[in-house]
Parts: sequence; structure tokens; C-alpha cells
Amino acid sequence: MKIGILGGGQLARMLALAGYPLGLDFVVLEPAKDACAAPLAVHLQADYDDPDALRLLAQQTDLVTYEFESVPASAVEQLGAELPVYPPASALATARDRNNEKTLFRELGIETAPFAEVHDLASLQQAVNSLGLPAILKTRTLGYDGKGQQVIRPGDDLAAAWDAIGAVPAILEGLVKFDREVSIIAVRSVSGELAFYPLAENRHQEGILHQSICLREDSHQPLAQDYARRVLERLDYVGVLAIEFFQVGEHLLANEMAPRVHNSGHWSIEGAETSQFENHLRAILDLPLGSASPVGHAAMLNLIGTLPDRQALLALENAHLHLYGKAPRPGRKIGHLTFRESSREKLGTRLAQANKLL
Ligand code: AMP
Repeated sequence: MKIGILGGGQLARMLALAGYPLGLDFVVLEPAKDACAAPLAVHLQADYDDPDALRLLAQQTDLVTYEFESVPASAVEQLGAELPVYPPASALATARDRNNEKTLFRELGIETAPFAEVHDLASLQQAVNSLGLPAILKTRTLGYDGKGQQVIRPGDDLAAAWDAIGAVPAILEGLVKFDREVSIIAVRSVSGELAFYPLAENRHQEGILHQSICLREDSHQPLAQDYARRVLERLDYVGVLAIEFFQVGEHLLANEMAPRVHNSGHWSIEGAETSQFENHLRAILDLPLGSASPVGHAAMLNLIGTLPDRQALLALENAHLHLYGKAPRPGRKIGHLTFRESSREKLGTRLAQANKLL
């Protein structure tokens, strides 16, 4: 069976790595020549909306999935007429637009930070009047890893903030004083089977995910699962879905969702009975889902910008190194490390050792 993937980055690479033991083959559509999934798949090198390449992809595969949410709607439409495309187009349309996703959360009774739509300087002024400052202005689309965002503090020039995000449709959000940032990875198969991974606690550096720790038996797990279930069922979702939350006391405020395998779930390769990558494939193929239960105490550290000494990283006990085959560049995710330990204390020690090397 052949799976098509729109996008040929590290997520596609790790999907392929998880899929080969299941007897699957992969074709990726990806414009970059040196795509890191290319060594593991047939590589169609073309733009995501190239109709000829999309036709070829549909001819060569049994179903299609994707590794990023800003897939052109026209590509999903063309492919969807030929073969199954998962997760569904409605999930893409929701997740690629911050206003749509926050509106969906609100409709489903899922708490969010207070927010308002912004489409010009006058509506920004109105949003500031109603939400107050400090607040954070975010582009509705194409924002990730803290890009397309501007914090506005009392006394700041609103016109400058509006220009800084490119004067494009946006939302203004109240700045949340959160206790922690957490995320849940949830899965739903074609026939509606569900699985939920334990929450991960996420720490960012300069807007980029740095560390995720799998939280075993966290008191917020039932609420996160309930929220994820509402989204999965409303969207008739198929595949892995990630939802990121701000935790404030007992509350979880949904910040954003990603209709794909997610960086905060990479720990699951070694730290769960079945990885998020394998379960995404099982879900879209309507195979029984694997257990999402944690194995030991696991955490993931991203390798960003430069590759530390590989010898030193692998000398750390219980270190599992995943390199994506990408050239180092500032701010670029080039790999990750996972640690799995028998206790939370040992995990803490290992993370401290590893962080010294990064
Ligand atoms: P995002 O692109 O929405 O995931 O935002 C990137 C990071 O900025 C988040 O992981 C938070 O650390 C921070 N952030 C985003 N929105 C807010 C908010 N409303 N309040 C406080 N921090 C935020």
C-alpha cells in the first residue's frame, strides 16, 4: 500500500520510518530538492498546487495525508476528488486560520484566551479597547513558532504593531499568565476509534519548542481528553490531532490545534507503546489503533540551529537521537533527542545533563 504525503520534511520522514514496518510505501510531494523525507520515499519535486504533480500523486498512491496545515485548499480539493485525503479538509480549513480555530473552540465550550478579530487599524483599536493591554496580535494564517506575532503593551504604537505583522487579517488575544503550556495528542480512526496520549508539558525558547515532558497521570488529563474528543467528533476527524493549551490553575485554555503529527508528540517514538506516527498511519488506514500508554518516563529535547557533538549526546545514558538530515541553520529544527527513564527523578537528571550539551 502506498501513502502520499504533502510535504517532505521531518514529519513526513518520521511517518515513513513508522510506516515501513507496517508494510507501507511512501510518495512525498515537496518542492525542495533536498527534502529530508526524500531518501525514504518517492519524491515528486513540484509545488503543492501543481495540478500535474497532484495527478501523479493520486495515481501512485492509495490515500493522501499531509505534514503541515497551510496546504493549498485547491490541492486538497483536487486530490479529494480522486482518493481519500486525511485529516479532512474541514480540519485544515479550521486549523490554518487562528480565528476559525478559536471560534470552533468557543462553539464547543472549550475555553480560550479572550480574543477579537482584527482586519484594519480601526478594528485593532476597538479590540484593544475591549480586551485591554497587554495583548498579542497574531496573523490569522501562516503563523508558527511565534512568527507573525507582536506583543502590544500599554503605550505601544498600534500602527507600528499592525505594520509589524504585515497589515494582514489578524486576531488580538489577551496575554495569558499561564502556569504551564501543555498539549494533547489525540487520534481518531476512520471508524471512529479514539486514543489519547498523556499530556506533554512544553517549554519554548524564542518562540520555538525546546522541550516536551510526558506528564503521566496529570490531573488535567480528563479535561484535555474531553476537549480533544469534542473537536475530533465535530470535525469527523481522522488521524492525529494536537491541541496546545495554556494551563491556568484548573483551567485549560486552548491556544491552537495542528491537524497532523506534532513536535510535542515526538517523545512517543520511544516513550509510548505506539508512536504518534504509527497511530496516525493506523488511523488513516482504518487499522486498529495501538495503545497510547506511556512506557517509562519520557521527554524530548529539540536540536535547534546547530548539531551538538554527536559523540557526547550518545554518551548520555538512555539517549535516543533522531537527526533529520537537514543542514544546520539558526532557528531550524535539525533533530531531537528522547530520554526514557524509570523515574521522573532520573529523567530530570538526564535532561539537565543533556541541556548542558545543547
Ligand atoms: P503560538 O504561535 O500561538 O503557539 O504562540 C507561540 C508562543 O507564544 C506560545 O507557545 C506562548 O508561549 C506564547 N503565547 C502565544 N499566545 C499567547 C497568549 N495569548 N498569552 C501568553 N502567551 C502567549
